[in-house]
Amino acid sequence: MKDRPLRCWAEIDGSALRHNLSVVRSRIPQETKLVAVVKANAYGHGLVPVAKELVEGGADVLGVSNVEEAAELRAGGVAATPILLLSACLPGEFPQVIECRAWPTISTYEEAKRLNAAAQKSGRRATAHFKIDTGMGRLGLWGAEAIKELKRSEKLPAVGIEAVCTHFSSADEDPERTEEQWRELMRWRPHFADKPLHVANSATLWRKTVYACSFVRVGLALYGLPPMPFLRRLLRPVMSWKTRITLLRHLSAGRTVSYGATYLLRKAQRLATLAVGYGDGYFRALSNRAQVLVHGNRCRVRGRVTMDQTVVDVSSAAGCKVGDEVVLLGAQGDLVIHAEELARIAGTIGYEIVTAVGMRVPRIYREFLSLPQGSRISAKPNLRRTGSRQPRLSTSEGLPDRSRNARSPHA
Ligand SMILES: *Cc1c(COP(=O)(O)O)cnc(C)c1O
Repeated sequence: MKDRPLRCWAEIDGSALRHNLSVVRSRIPQETKLVAVVKANAYGHGLVPVAKELVEGGADVLGVSNVEEAAELRAGGVAATPILLLSACLPGEFPQVIECRAWPTISTYEEAKRLNAAAQKSGRRATAHFKIDTGMGRLGLWGAEAIKELKRSEKLPAVGIEAVCTHFSSADEDPERTEEQWRELMRWRPHFADKPLHVANSATLWRKTVYACSFVRVGLALYGLPPMPFLRRLLRPVMSWKTRITLLRHLSAGRTVSYGATYLLRKAQRLATLAVGYGDGYFRALSNRAQVLVHGNRCRVRGRVTMDQTVVDVSSAAGCKVGDEVVLLGAQGDLVIHAEELARIAGTIGYEIVTAVGMRVPRIYREFLSLPQGSRISAKPNLRRTGSRQPRLSTSEGLPDRSRNARSPHA
């Protein structure tokens, strides 16, 4: 069991994560608090280990989508760091919000009242951040209506509105629209002049430092995905995604590959079958178009990606054999496949490529100061056969020789 090879896995590089964290830090004023966004399983990288590493590296607050993710962080041992909830809470969730000491993002007096009721019931005081819509059109009310709700919410005895925030719709593509949204927020600023503000996501940090405010909410850049193409060279990808060759065959001209027989061999080829498919998050839209790295060569996907298996042309990868490692995302030798490349082919964005890496794909943590070397944590802990709810750590080799000297300067 212990020596069983991995079929398809993701390696998560702690040193790249800390590098990106320090790049982000260098973009913001020292007193600005960094909300490290770890929603959706830390964009597919693994919620608890990534959150802990970011906290060790100096993140001030963790940003998640909802109270379930907040509870997972608390259960996973993130005890003291504040947690900001970025999505709206359901009415029934407020008791758990209090329980987790999370900060909900609220848009209305209605939500504030529910939070207040839950806080009073548990004898605690709650903190909330208040969102105003300036053009994102997802959370928050506009202008005067928002101010009215904010003022009423501020009178509630068990709720403290600690910050006001908004979200940009087009930070990565439209500086003018972003500037307009900022001006709209500033128009109403006199009504909450005493409150800390936050508006910025990753892309915004490279637009204008004034957007940094009291907090910034940064996800993408921490994972080494560039919000704008020119940032590619500044950031290091944190996730590498790998699989293995399960079978090698020579097929002759005239044969076809995979469902729908969409690929017809014009000449004989050496084809490798890989242990990855859309069931692992390798999108079917990559069929016949994406490339993978085998023995330092770019090799093309042939035919349709199926649920569990994908076929590639390894005619150019002379020495490859069954069991060899294949890179779907990440570097091999001098070659690298970035999430942006797969995103372009699949007609999506890098966020979706990494976030979609499936539950079946174990994450292997390398160079995490907060974990033993090579720690392996199943992607979705509650799917483990043990039925355990907690991420269980199994260390195969090399025990914690953790030199803490290498910590980020911002620790
Ligand atoms: C996800 C999210 C962020 C982080 O955005 P990135 O582009 O990944 O930096 C910031 N703010 C809100 C409200 C979010 O939902």
